[in-house]
Amino acid sequence: MFTDSHTHLYLKEFDKDVATVIKNAVDSGVNRFLLPNIDLNSIPKLLALCKDEKSNLFPMIGLHPCSVSKNFINDLDKIYSYFNADSFIAIGEIGIDLYWENKFIIEQQEAFQIQLNWARQHKLPIVIHSRNSFNEIYTILKKKKNNDITGVFHCFSGSYQQAKKIIEMGFYLGIGGVLTFKNSNLSEVIKKIDLKHLILETDSPYLAPSPMRGKRNEPKFLPIIAKQIAEIKNINIQEIAEITNQNIDDIFFKIK
Ligand SMILES: [Zn+2]
Repeated sequence: MFTDSHTHLYLKEFDKDVATVIKNAVDSGVNRFLLPNIDLNSIPKLLALCKDEKSNLFPMIGLHPCSVSKNFINDLDKIYSYFNADSFIAIGEIGIDLYWENKFIIEQQEAFQIQLNWARQHKLPIVIHSRNSFNEIYTILKKKKNNDITGVFHCFSGSYQQAKKIIEMGFYLGIGGVLTFKNSNLSEVIKKIDLKHLILETDSPYLAPSPMRGKRNEPKFLPIIAKQIAEIKNINIQEIAEITNQNIDDIFFKIK
C-alpha cells in the first residue's frame, strides 16, 4: 500500500464525493493521506475531514506562500492558535512562490522564517512549496539557526544540482505527476538519485499525471507515478511502496 504525502482532499473540488475518492484510492492501493494546509479559511474543513477518517488522514498546519499578503502576521497569529487544540504531523505547506509576480516577496520570506521557527519549537518537519524560488529558499534554510530543520521539497521538478543540495541538507524530494509530463526532465534526475531520498505525492486536485493531465487529480493516480519510478530504477513496484513508506515514517511519524 502507498502513502499520498501531499493531497488537498478538503478542497471544494472534492466536496461532492470525497468518501468515494478515498475509497477508490484505497482500492487502487493508496491507504494513507497527508494533508497540507493552505490558509486560515481551509483549516476547519481540513481538521473536520481528518477527524471523520481518523486513522488514515493526517493534517499539517501552515500558511501557503500564495496566501501571504499584507495581513500575513495577523493570519499567522490566528493559524498558530490551532496548536492549542490539535496535533499536526508537519508545518506545511510553506515556502516562497515567485511564479506569477514578485509581489510580497519580503512578506513571503518573513512568513517562511516565522514558520520555520514554529517547526523548531514544535519539533515538526516542514513541507516546502518552492516555485521559481529555489535560491531564495535555499538561502534561508542554510542560515545557521535553521540547520536543525528537515522535511520535504514538495512537487520537486528542479535540476540534479538542486536535488543534490536538497539531499545534502537532509531534506527529501516529493515526486508527483510532473514526472509523467512529456516536457519534464525529472526522470533523468531520478535516475541519479537514491530512492532513500524520495517520497510520492499527487498534490491532488492539481497536477494530474499523464494521460489525465488537466483533469481533476486524485490520490488513486499515485501508483502511476510509482510505476514510472519502478521502470526508471528497474525494480519491483512493491519495493517502491516499501521504501517510500519507510521514508515517510522517518520524516513524519518518528517519535521525537
Ligand atoms: Zn499543495
